[in-house]
Amino acid sequence: MRVAVVSDLHANLVALDAVLADAGDVDAVWHLGDVVGYGPDPDGVVARLAEIGATGVAGNHDRAATGALDIDWFNDDARAAIVWTQHRIAAATATWLAALPDTRTEAGILLVHGSPRDPTWEYILTAAIARASFEHLATPLGLYGHTHLPMAWTLRGTRVGSIFPDDGPFLALAGPDRVLVNPGSVGQPRDGDPRAGWLELDTDAGEARWHRVTYDIAAVQAEMRAAGLPIRLVDRLRVGL
Ligand code: ZN
Repeated sequence: MRVAVVSDLHANLVALDAVLADAGDVDAVWHLGDVVGYGPDPDGVVARLAEIGATGVAGNHDRAATGALDIDWFNDDARAAIVWTQHRIAAATATWLAALPDTRTEAGILLVHGSPRDPTWEYILTAAIARASFEHLATPLGLYGHTHLPMAWTLRGTRVGSIFPDDGPFLALAGPDRVLVNPGSVGQPRDGDPRAGWLELDTDAGEARWHRVTYDIAAVQAEMRAAGLPIRLVDRLRVGL
């Protein structure tokens, strides 16, 4: 099965459509949450995911957008964007978001937004947190988002390692005992590359490949300005940080 794995779409429909065009004819699209928040088109992104039958999990922004998570936990810009999103989204969008589970297992692979230990909030940013995550990962492979950083953590015996997209043409999933992979972010990359990121997962070959796709960033920035979203959120799309 060939799967397009996407995460942290953040209401950026132009970026999502560029990713879906790049992915082409896949067997499934899995998303790892933060479908909305920050970006200008939450209804459009949810409608597209519903239309293509994507399955996935909730992120912290999705929970906040439907009022299930206290927005006091968010920084000023994120909070302003969430309040904007809450007032903007259609009832059908809120219903779709509220139905997303915290975790999901597809084809024996765990999908989470944050970490297996704390699916909505924890960021896997250090080897120590990756080690704790592996202790809560019951499947050989897990997919996570939330950090917006494309990379993988591996567990071999007791040793935790990290792998980045530049380390090789593809990621072999069968070598390590356990693997946690982040596809990167579709709608708001933060690794210094402003292009939209996604992960191609081939479950038969046991391989994964990270991809980056250019999209019309200026068009999305214009939409965000027109919507009155915070200028720092508009500017960061151009630099990918
Ligand atoms: Zn996010």
